[in-house]
Amino acid sequence: MNYLIIGNGGAGLRAAQTIRSRDPEAKITMLDGEPYPCYYRMRLPDYISGWKDRDSLFVVKEDFYAQHGIDLLSSTTAVAVKPDEHSVQLDSGDSLTYDRLLIASGAKVRKLSCPGCEIDGVVYLRTLDQAEDILRRGKEAKNAVALGGGLLGVEMARCFNEMGLTSYYLIREDRFWPQMLDITASLMVERVLEEKGVILEKKNAIEEILGEGGRVTGVATTAGEKLAADIVGIAIGVESKIDFLEGSGIETGRGIIVDDHLRTNQPDVFAAGDVAQAYNVVTGTQEVVTSWLNTQRQGDTAGINMTGGDKALGGVVNFNVIVIYGLPVACIGMNLPPEGEGYEQLTGDYPKGKEYRKLVLRDGVLVGCILVGKINEATAMEQLIKMEADVSAFKKRLFEPGFDAKALLEELGTAKMAG
Ligand SMILES: Cc1cc2nc3c(=O)[nH]c(=O)nc-3n(C[C@H](O)[C@H](O)[C@H](O)COP(=O)(O)OP(=O)(O)OC[C@H]3O[C@@H](n4cnc5c(N)ncnc54)[C@H](O)[C@@H]3O)c2cc1C
Repeated sequence: MNYLIIGNGGAGLRAAQTIRSRDPEAKITMLDGEPYPCYYRMRLPDYISGWKDRDSLFVVKEDFYAQHGIDLLSSTTAVAVKPDEHSVQLDSGDSLTYDRLLIASGAKVRKLSCPGCEIDGVVYLRTLDQAEDILRRGKEAKNAVALGGGLLGVEMARCFNEMGLTSYYLIREDRFWPQMLDITASLMVERVLEEKGVILEKKNAIEEILGEGGRVTGVATTAGEKLAADIVGIAIGVESKIDFLEGSGIETGRGIIVDDHLRTNQPDVFAAGDVAQAYNVVTGTQEVVTSWLNTQRQGDTAGINMTGGDKALGGVVNFNVIVIYGLPVACIGMNLPPEGEGYEQLTGDYPKGKEYRKLVLRDGVLVGCILVGKINEATAMEQLIKMEADVSAFKKRLFEPGFDAKALLEELGTAKMAG
């Protein structure tokens, strides 16, 4: 069997590993637009801020691919997919055929559009090359501005601050990450940023990027300020990489539409990771979920099904975990429910010091959760959400000291099986 994988990120690599373990004789070819072995993108901020060294970024060593009989074509980009011919066209003009294809092309950053947005010194963070570019620039810079009120924006502001630059952090909204966190959790994060010296400016954004001699010198903000900057970091979201699929007949929305076995609408074509739009068990709609954990689950499930297995993913739920200056934050599922009947938001006696816990129930069923300060129950909470567990009988217990979500998960799982 001839397997072709577009993408050498977490999803592509995990699928290749699963395929190899299930089919020792398989021909496996991977395409990667980048020149490196698979690396952890989530470690790039810590690499920039000096907390991690370059070697620790890589998931596998360079010789991993040859050792496992995987043909990795680095710096090679797929420019078109032809499902009727079972072939993929490359940027070199050559084509490769496949029996089974996995598209794991991930995501790309959303670009800012404003006057001056192309000036040298405007940076984004998705790839190792971009991280090294930021590191280089940081050595000569004094002032920086980061824009973007989510997980990547805060990482950018933190990196600039850790590099010793004056770090302005602009967020358009009136608080940090209102799409995922409630007011209490937002304020806890904001406090940590301010304590560490990040200059947080809410309800402010970039109107224009200013430059001199082709280099960035600052930004004019929507609030009417002028801020000096030698680097301007933009983190306003990501988009699934699907442009090269135009005309392929593969159904797309925000990402590639997949069923619970990660199959696309075209025979023998699968998709996984940041590029896949799968069924979200909480919202009941198809959604792209962008997290490392998701790439591992989807890569593995796709690999099993591509090799003739029959494994269901069990849908997806939003799952974000971030550690901001030592403060861990997890937001899972639907934690900002719409106003209306059926929803209950429980916080027990939280917040307590630097810890916070909020659970959201819909008709007694756990659908969302925010954890701050102590997040070791995050995956168990996610499992409870995914199994659509009715926790109404355990409301008190959920907030007791020493509450063990894993134990509850086991209890409910056993009861469900027995029932
Ligand atoms: C700075 C940063 C911090 C993050 N922090 C966290 C975190 O704390 N926790 C968390 O869970 N997640 C985090 N993430 C998100 C996480 O890294 C992603 O969800 C994950 O890397 C996605 O993996 P993927 O395999 O789907 O795609 P990617 O890692 O994007 O890999 C896609 C691969 O496909 C290749 N490719 C794309 N198009 C083509 C083509 N046409 N032809 C050939 N090759 C192609 C690319 O070169 C790349 O190798 C972070 C991401 C970033 C950038």
